Parts: sequence; structure tokens; C-alpha cells
Amino acid sequence: MGHEDTIVAIATSMTPAGIGIIRVSGDDAIDIISSIFVDKNKNEKSFTESYKAYHGYICDKEKNELIDEVICIVMRKPHSYTTEDVVEVQCHGGPLVLKKILQLIEGRGARIAEPGEFTKRAFLNGRIDLSMAESVSDIIMSKNDYALKVSFEQLRGNISEKLNHFRKEILESIAFIEACLDDPEHMSLDGYKEKLKNKVDNIINEIDKIIENYDNGRLIKEGVNTVIIGRPNVGKSSLLNLLLDEERAIVTDVAGTTRDIIKESINLRGITLNIIDTAGIREEKGIDKVEEIGIEKAKSEIKKADLIILMLDATTPLSKDDEALIKLCQSQNKKCIVLINKIDLGKNVIDKEKLKNLFNYDIIVIDFSTKTKEGLEKLEESIEKLFVFGDIDFNNEIFLSNERQFSSIKKAKKSLQNVLSAIESKVSEDFYTIDLNDAYISLSQVLGIEVTDDVIDEIFSKFCMGK
Ligand code: GDP
Repeated sequence: MGHEDTIVAIATSMTPAGIGIIRVSGDDAIDIISSIFVDKNKNEKSFTESYKAYHGYICDKEKNELIDEVICIVMRKPHSYTTEDVVEVQCHGGPLVLKKILQLIEGRGARIAEPGEFTKRAFLNGRIDLSMAESVSDIIMSKNDYALKVSFEQLRGNISEKLNHFRKEILESIAFIEACLDDPEHMSLDGYKEKLKNKVDNIINEIDKIIENYDNGRLIKEGVNTVIIGRPNVGKSSLLNLLLDEERAIVTDVAGTTRDIIKESINLRGITLNIIDTAGIREEKGIDKVEEIGIEKAKSEIKKADLIILMLDATTPLSKDDEALIKLCQSQNKKCIVLINKIDLGKNVIDKEKLKNLFNYDIIVIDFSTKTKEGLEKLEESIEKLFVFGDIDFNNEIFLSNERQFSSIKKAKKSLQNVLSAIESKVSEDFYTIDLNDAYISLSQVLGIEVTDDVIDEIFSKFCMGK
């Protein structure tokens, strides 16, 4: 397959740390490391045994210079991450040390690995399928406990198992139909339609569950896009700061996967909230905000949101602006929590009944204060209830990782529906096999079978270095 190069990469991060790991994979991995390694008595040592740790030094033998004290772990093929010969060099975790050892290994003939190339080799060499490979990256990027659980189950093969089961059923049907058509004297399709219909119905039902779960999976993994809206000075920045102080802020300035720039992510009871920046929300603290949130801007933010937190000021009656924002929320039919803020001032002139009536669906209204934190518990509880990941049976449910898998699954469903229509319209049996075959291919694609090299390259290019 033309990937016999021996590849090398730093597998740990390039910030000072206790330990750093350099990973080498390929036919020359063991020879290369043997050629730059000496044991503690400075004798050359070759690595013979798999799964053994060798203690010694990395040595630039041309300059007769010891570089670092290391432990090398040898994993001989096929029992390694890539199924090739792999050596992991554990050195001290300093960027300079790591770089020097990397260069030494490169100088001995290894090529610097592309992002994701180790995992790509594990896939191309057949140790894992594409859905498992994709889960590796998901595990690394997991932002909360639920996301980690979902991705880990996927690495263990829950998607693969389920889809392989569907594929097997479909393949059996194709084989049976074709055999009957080939040999009508001895085999008959009498009564098979009903059987096939049941089989296809069952698979479609299961696929529907997977499709329904997709959105939950996305919310779990990518986080709940949350927008805080309200008139100027209702307390939006104060709320954001309160949440950032109280909850575990994970990242700042993470570019959203798609269009929006997500400024802050926080973990709240295992749910990741990506707070979408709204106009003025990130103005410097203490500086009065003059920027109005234009309705147009709010509109586009609400569109992107999975959750809207609408803030009102308890001390002033509902204004036209408030009503306009409420209209916006409900026109989008989004999950919405209304916070009546500044409740600590002891004056609440908001008519809750009127407020609730302005919405044509149930909303949660909470008396709130960013000053005294009144209502914070309730806000957290409400968010938890709206996104009930806690009730999900992670061991048995399947969450697709991405749009690629999702669209393949939807295609498979479409083809299976075509099989059902064919059965109903009483066309000849050989028509069934065409759609069955299409469904088979779409399911295979989720697992990386029958996907083009371009797709594979694209997937692995998004991985981090050394993985
Ligand atoms: P934003 O324009 O919506 O981002 O509003 P800010 O968060 O900047 O708050 C505007 C003003 O209201 C600031 O002076 C805050 O200190 C004050 N404020 C915010 N939340 C509360 C609250 O719960 N109680 C009281 N008393 N004042 C608040």
C-alpha cells in the first residue's frame, strides 16, 4: 500500500512536562532506535523482546554525546497500535529534548509522521475500522464525561458491531435472492417477500433510533451552543462571569467547528455549554456598554443556539425590546430559560403570567441575581433537565460522531425504504438487490469500507500530530 516508510512523531504535547514520548512506527523502527540507544553501561543494545521496557540513554553516536536518559518500549508487529514494529521512547518532557531526539531519529531515516498517520495505519492495516479511528480523535477532544463515554464505547466498537450486524443481514438477503434467481428450479422466493419486509423494517427501526440520537450525540460531544440575550445592562456579562467563576471553564477562544467563534466553554454538571458571544457581552468589565444588541444580530445568534438564556431586569417592566426578543425566541422554537435578574434589589415588577403567555410553549422562568447567586442552582438544574444526558443508557445506545457517518446512515435508510416500496409495488425480485446493495455500501462507508482515499486523507488530516 506504499506506506512502508518508518514514521516518527512527538506524541505528547510540546510544553514542559515530566515525561515526553516519541513514537516510531515501521519496518526500521527497531533498528533506528537501537542505533541511537545505549544501556546504562553505555553498551549498545538491540531490542529483541516485544512489550519490554529498555532503560538507558539516547546517544548521538557521531558526536559521542548522550542526550537524555530514557525508557524505550518495544512493540513488535503485529501487536502494536499500527500493527507495525513500534518503539516508544519515553524521555524527559522538555520541548528541546524532544526535538533533539526527534531530529536524531529523522536523521536515521524515519520520516516525520503526518497528523493522524499512526491511527491511519492502524486503520489501513485493518486493526480498527474507520468509526473506531474517528473515536480516537473524539476521545482526545472530549470536553466532558458524557462525551468521553460515548467516544470510548465507539472505540470499543459499538457502532461497528451494530452496523456489521445490519450488513450481515442485508448480505444474506442479497445472497439468498440471487441464488433463487440463478437456480429457480431448486430454490424459491415464495413467501420470502414477507420475511424480507420484516427484516428491512427492523433494520430501519434501529437506524431511526440512531438518527434520533444524532442530535444528542452532537450536543454531548460538541457542547450545547448557548446564547445569553437581553437588553443592555440586564446583567449578561455578569452572568457569564458568574458562570465562568462557578463552573469549570475548559477553553477560551476555541474556533467553532463551523461558522461561529465560540468564546467560552464551561462544564456544567457534565454538560458542556459553548457560550456564543453576543454583541457587547465581552466588553471590558467595568466599562459601560453602549452597544445595543440589534435584533438582527440577536436573530442570527438565536439561530445557531441550542439553548437561549433570556435575561430580564426585575426592576423594570417588560419593554418593547424585551417583547421583541421574546418573539424572536419563540419564532425559532428554541429551548429557552428566562432569568428575571437583579431580584436582590427587592423589587420585581415583571408580570410572570404575562411573560409566560408571550410564549406559545413552556418556558422556565427563574428569579435570579448574579450578585447573590440566587437562582443559580435552579438554572443548573433546569439546563440539566432540558438536556437529559443523565438518562441515556450509554452502554446500549449509539451516537454517530459526525456528519459523514450521519449522512451515510441516512442514505442507507433511504435505500432500505426503496426496498420496501419495491416489495409493495410488486416489481421483480432482482430490483430488491440493487437497493439492498446500496444500503450495504452506505453502511460499509461508515466503517471505512468503500470510501475513497480523499475521504480517508481528509479525516486523518484533522487529527493531532503523533496520533
Ligand atoms: P449587560 O450589559 O447585560 O452585560 O449587563 P452587565 O452584566 O454589564 O450589568 C449591568 C449592570 O447591572 C452592572 O452595573 C452590574 O453590576 C449590574 N448587575 C448585574 N446583575 C445584577 C444583579 O443580579 N443584581 C444587581 N443589583 N445588579 C446587577
